[in-house]
Amino acid sequence: MGNYTLGIIKPDAVRKNYTGKIIDRFLQGGFKIVAARLEHLSREQAEKFYAVHKERPFFNDLIEFMTSGPCMPFVAEHKNAVESYRKFIGATNPTEAAEGTIRRDFAESIQNNAVHGSDSDENAEKEIAFFFTVSQIHTI
Ligand code: ADP
Ligand code: MG
Repeated sequence: MGNYTLGIIKPDAVRKNYTGKIIDRFLQGGFKIVAARLEHLSREQAEKFYAVHKERPFFNDLIEFMTSGPCMPFVAEHKNAVESYRKFIGATNPTEAAEGTIRRDFAESIQNNAVHGSDSDENAEKEIAFFFTVSQIHTI
């Protein structure tokens, strides 16, 4: 169980000015935010990040959405980070997300679902390295 995971506040939530509220939820929930920045993904970056989904029917729409405006990648620190974070954000589809979760409260749809979260320690490590160098991660 690793202590770090990669989150992204997706373009829908940035556009609606939910960035501060979402970061505050994580902080209040016991996560440390040890790296973060705004970034407008290129098509190439988004396709690389979501390469695992390239055969899925929603892939093109997902890439359009993820490149539609700036997003905020960040690194969250927590004990058993991947599982704790995914529980905190709720199910992919906000209509199935538990009450009080970030997706339940901030997502628009199954696609525009406010936040990303890594799904395993192995992917967390890869996804953190996709956005941040070691010197950009400020563990306290
Ligand atoms: P999660 O983000 O919960 O790990 P997935 O890895 O399965 O979910 O999917 C990646 C992203 O692709 C989702 O967060 C969502 O933005 C989009 N997505 C997933 N399933 C669908 C779907 N059925 N229709 C449209 N978009 C989807
Ligand atoms: Mg996933």
